Amino acid sequence: MYFIANWKMYGNLSSINTVKNVIKLSKNSLFKKIKIIYCPPYTLLRPLVKKLRNSKIQVGAQDCHTNNEFGAFTGSVNSKMIKSVGCKYVIIGHSENRLRGDTNNKINLKIKSSLKENLNIIFCIGEKLKEKKNKKTNLVLNSQIINGLKKIKNSKNIIVAYEPVWSIGTGVIPNSKDLDQNIKNIKKTLKKKFKFKNPKVLYGGSVNSKNIIELRKIRSIDGFLIGGSSQKSKNFIDIIKKTIN
Ligand code: PEP
Repeated sequence: MYFIANWKMYGNLSSINTVKNVIKLSKNSLFKKIKIIYCPPYTLLRPLVKKLRNSKIQVGAQDCHTNNEFGAFTGSVNSKMIKSVGCKYVIIGHSENRLRGDTNNKINLKIKSSLKENLNIIFCIGEKLKEKKNKKTNLVLNSQIINGLKKIKNSKNIIVAYEPVWSIGTGVIPNSKDLDQNIKNIKKTLKKKFKFKNPKVLYGGSVNSKNIIELRKIRSIDGFLIGGSSQKSKNFIDIIKKTIN
């Protein structure tokens, strides 16, 4: 199971200390098999890598530029830079970035540039509320997968995070039956179109220490991408413990 913390644009240097209890948990033999990944803002990547040096917890960035070479792109950070500070992961295609101009094509270039640096990709996909209401969920998810992964052969380093846009930060989660079906459909497409052998698909969107009781029952889910509830270690630990126990 994966537990990925997306801190979004939250946190300063003192926030780094909140991970100490999560480090402790990760060393407990009960939690040996889980993968914990922190994705803080760029400013905290290096300090967090240092803090987690003696643990198995990994660090990832929340986005990257399409170009993995250095260049005149003010304000941008590329996969080479992310790799160089000790990160192993990068989130690509988060709906908050899709809303700000990340097209499927741009996402495809970002994934390719990150694979060149041997980073693991957390590839986010998800339908908007209107698309769900119009019964377009499958169509949208398939198009995001097919265009986002176009001409990509290296499926080994890619994890998909299914995050319905209407669920992110709203407190609303999909019903279990729909969620299970959508995750299964995503896996089917990944296997059929991109030859994934054992696709890993996570769920993200308003996961908290209460709704995890229902979510953990859905066996097709391989882990969770957690935003708001990952910023305080108590909530994050609660979610991990309730999933595993
Ligand atoms: C996210 O930002 O990826 C996310 C799932 O956020 P939240 O858990 O706050 O809905």
